[in-house]
Amino acid sequence: MAKVSTSQLHEKDRANIWHAMRADSNAKSVIAKKAEGAWITDSDGNKYLDGMAGLWCVNAGYGRKELADVAYEQLMEMPYFPLTQSHEPAIELAEKLNEWLGDDYVYFFSNSGSEANETAFKIARQYHHQTGNPRKYKFIARYRAYHGNTMATMAAGGQNERAYKYEPFPAGFLHVTPPDSYRVPEGETVESWSIKCANEIEQMIKWEVKDTVAAVIMEPMITGGGILIPHDSYMRRVREICDEYNVLLISDEVINGFGRTGKRFGFQHSGVKPDIISMAKGITSAYLPLSATAVRKEIFEAFQGSDDYNHLRHVNTFGGNPAACKLAIKNLEIMEEEKLVERSAELGERLLEEMAELKELPYVGDVRGRGLLFGIEMVKDKDTKEPLEGEVLGKIVAGCKQDGLIIAKTSDTAAGNNNILTLSPPLSITEDDFQF
Ligand code: PLP
Repeated sequence: MAKVSTSQLHEKDRANIWHAMRADSNAKSVIAKKAEGAWITDSDGNKYLDGMAGLWCVNAGYGRKELADVAYEQLMEMPYFPLTQSHEPAIELAEKLNEWLGDDYVYFFSNSGSEANETAFKIARQYHHQTGNPRKYKFIARYRAYHGNTMATMAAGGQNERAYKYEPFPAGFLHVTPPDSYRVPEGETVESWSIKCANEIEQMIKWEVKDTVAAVIMEPMITGGGILIPHDSYMRRVREICDEYNVLLISDEVINGFGRTGKRFGFQHSGVKPDIISMAKGITSAYLPLSATAVRKEIFEAFQGSDDYNHLRHVNTFGGNPAACKLAIKNLEIMEEEKLVERSAELGERLLEEMAELKELPYVGDVRGRGLLFGIEMVKDKDTKEPLEGEVLGKIVAGCKQDGLIIAKTSDTAAGNNNILTLSPPLSITEDDFQF
């Protein structure tokens, strides 16, 4: 392409690109050109501290030559082979992920978080079908959750404002109250409220026709729905309920995973063992697309045997690309060498202490976080906790961008959660970066 000026680039961008989640197609994009560490440089030479690590995903930070090198070497050696057969990079990555989980799972590889969750839903339904419970097809999720952009993952999501124009969705997705530690009803503690929210899942299972619920899906900490951090007993109680009613527990670790919350995976805060774990984003620090659905071996066993009708009838062309697998392994090695998970926990704790001062400001109702995942809940009135309008938050996000800091905000008015600012920087961010 002939050299084009920045203003021409913006013109071409507006004329040709349908941007994700953009209300005003005439709004000016940041046209990113270079990235290093936690910083983005745009085509005008402006620098931005990326307080969102892209879309909560560049965990190891930008500009890692080692990641590019391993991908290049693998592309030259063998760029592609489908996982209907196998290849070494996928085998090595599965082993590495089991090291990270401290347990033994088998892995189905795809390309995005949405696909990882879709795969989880299909595995859950087919598993029950093949183990004597063909009526178990329903899923319980939480309001305010986001699980992806496909029809089934939107059905699982609990952000109705963003979803309703795409209805009808596949049937069988039910929703319960998410545990919100800022809006605990009077007379409850964070712990007692978390347990009550978990018990709502049991109540729902009882209200539905017996033996019709296949699985519960949850992010240990709801991210896009407003950074909701329940008491650690919440997921333990959910695990107990799932065990009692033969319901699978799917942990959506697409954002929570790979150090974001200060542990390798979000569920590890509560010490439970999920049946299925979906992973994406931080698995490659977003350098290449890759996702994985980790499945307990006992579940995998139900798909084995000579009966041709029992195998998982699910395939995708690109999942588990060898270069993406190699890159993921290197990414996890970097995270180990640089102790990025521990760093997320320690730096996160310190920053949260410092950010607590923001609560003194008008309109800041709550500042919360775990690891390098933060939410700032904005309210009109600190006593009533009436949410501040989303448009005001939009202006704050735009103002920060003008000052060189990228942050985001939640957006679903129906779920009552368009009033929370979010931050999720690269885990490699330095103290100096914060002094900008
Ligand atoms: N699950 C969660 C919790 C997410 O936040 C997202 C995306 O942001 C997804 C799933 C879907 O991932 P993807 O956009 O890679 O399909």
